[in-house]
This record gives sequence, structure tokens and C-alpha cells, in this order.
Amino acid sequence: MDRLTAQQRHKNMAAIRSKDTKPEMIVRRGLWKRGFRYRLNHKQLPGHPDLVLRKYRTCIFVNGCFWHGHLVDMQTLENSECCKIPNTNRDFWVAKIRRNKKRDREEQRTLASMGWHCITVWECELKPQKREETLDSIAFTLNHIWLQDHGAKSVPYSDIVEENIQMPIAAEDF
Ligand SMILES: [Zn+2]
Repeated sequence: MDRLTAQQRHKNMAAIRSKDTKPEMIVRRGLWKRGFRYRLNHKQLPGHPDLVLRKYRTCIFVNGCFWHGHLVDMQTLENSECCKIPNTNRDFWVAKIRRNKKRDREEQRTLASMGWHCITVWECELKPQKREETLDSIAFTLNHIWLQDHGAKSVPYSDIVEENIQMPIAAEDF
């Protein structure tokens, strides 16, 4: 016998749905489907990364665009497409976002000094129409990291690109 009232059932369904569509869940499921294995919220690591892929020495942070001020210029404080700082209590929100950004930077610097790579995935990159592309690109980055860490020779094109970048700087010397 189904003991839940319609209202309770609706509440449960809503809770389940919101959990499943959480940005972290999208990343977890997407990477799992692509064959990557990971641990969650590694407590010993700075910042408690959402996913930890030991084989790739990589931590993945899934960031909410608002809380981490995605694409907001912290000098001009101009809102971005995905982070609109409220006008009410604006100073409070600005201070909070600044603190979060600063902490993100510090945690990632510490992780880097411990030999970890960090990947930040933004909530807005996980919208249905961008999701698969974002997940493919994370998979690509992870494979690239693995190859680099295992001393594989870089692809021939990367040298050429680097030379091109340096040329204008060298030219200024003349
Ligand atoms: Zn965003």
C-alpha cells in the first residue's frame, strides 16, 4: 500500500529531482559514463574538491556561478551573464564573492604545490545545450594531463604554437 499522500510524494520527487540535476551530479555521471573513476569530497585535501581523480592527480571543483562570481570583473564589478550581484545589500554580496574567489585561488595554489592539477567546471557550462561539450572537454583535458604526467612526448604542433607566441616579444627587442 502506498502510504504517501500526493503532497508528500510530490515533495519527495522534487527532492530527488533537484539532487539528480545538481551540477556535481551531472559531472559525476558524465565522467563515469566516459570511463573515469573518482572519489568524492576528499576531506584531507584543501577545499574538499567535488571529485578527486587520483590516477590523473586531478581535483575537480564544480562551482556555482553566483557564489564564485563567474566572469565578473572584480575591478568594475560589472555583472556577467551568469552572475548578477543583487543591488540590495550589494556590498555584502561583493565582499562574500571576493572572499570565495580568494579562497578558491589559495586552495588551488596549495593543491598545485602538492602536485595536484585542478579543473574548475562552471554551472553555466552544464546547461543542457552545453553539457556534453563541456564533459567531452574535461575528458580531453584529463587524458592530456595523464599523457603529460607520464612523460609522453607532446604533439608536434605545440612547439610551433609556442614559437609563434614568443615571436612578437622577441621582435620588440630589435
Ligand atoms: Zn557561469
